[in-house]
Amino acid sequence: MKYDVVIVGGGASGLSCALTLASAQGRGWEWAENRRYLVLDTGRSDMNRALFNNVPGVPQGTTGKELLDKIKEQIKSYGGVDFKEDKVVKIEGEKGSFKVHTEGGSTYEAQFVVLASGFHRFEIECEGVEVVDNPKSPKPGRVMIKHDGDFKVRDGLYVAGLLSGASSMFTSAAGTGVQVAINILSEWAGKPVVIHDVPEEG
Ligand SMILES: Cc1cc2nc3c(=O)[nH]c(=O)nc-3n(C[C@H](O)[C@H](O)[C@H](O)COP(=O)(O)OP(=O)(O)OC[C@H]3O[C@@H](n4cnc5c(N)ncnc54)[C@H](O)[C@@H]3O)c2cc1C
Repeated sequence: MKYDVVIVGGGASGLSCALTLASAQGRGWEWAENRRYLVLDTGRSDMNRALFNNVPGVPQGTTGKELLDKIKEQIKSYGGVDFKEDKVVKIEGEKGSFKVHTEGGSTYEAQFVVLASGFHRFEIECEGVEVVDNPKSPKPGRVMIKHDGDFKVRDGLYVAGLLSGASSMFTSAAGTGVQVAINILSEWAGKPVVIHDVPEEG
């Protein structure tokens, strides 16, 4: 199946990326309509172990699991995003015709790929990716992928979250996922894009 964007990793950054992409629909922007997005995830987000008391706007005492479920619900309210539990093992090709291969034996085509698989390791076979030590991690052995400073690894390939060098804080990781979504939407639009809603006049 062919997708516009395949996101590898369904944690803080991957889901935030998917939410922003999905939220661009229904606004009369022809370049945002009828897009298909896929999140491939192995279900091992760091959020599964977290208790959030310091995430802005999120009620204190919210568990990471609860927040993951809430963000997925938010994404589903827009539609256009498929979720599959599978491990990505290889990515080949280039912008417009990436092939994303999984351990389960599936192959997905994608115009864009977003790597959002966390900083514990990067074992996906992927051309043009340079994996280096993560300088923002308090623990040794964590990795990141080099990018151009605006999360582009090479044409069509973006990196988000801790794998992009964000500090391990929910909002830092989520923010990079949002920025990657905005960068992709801006490529489609051919101009800088933001997605804002305003309250209806009452
Ligand atoms: C114990 C703990 C407590 C924390 N407490 C707080 C806190 O109080 N406040 C705060 O702001 N932050 C906290 N954090 C940090 C926050 O959870 C992380 O910064 C955030 O989850 C990182 O987001 P990410 O998207 O980069 O990675 P993750 O959320 O880890 O998501 C990466 C996803 O990629 C998937 N994946 C990996 N490899 C593949 C593959 N090959 N194919 C498909 N999927 C793959 C994983 O299964 C995972 O779901 C805490 C973290 C931990 C561990």
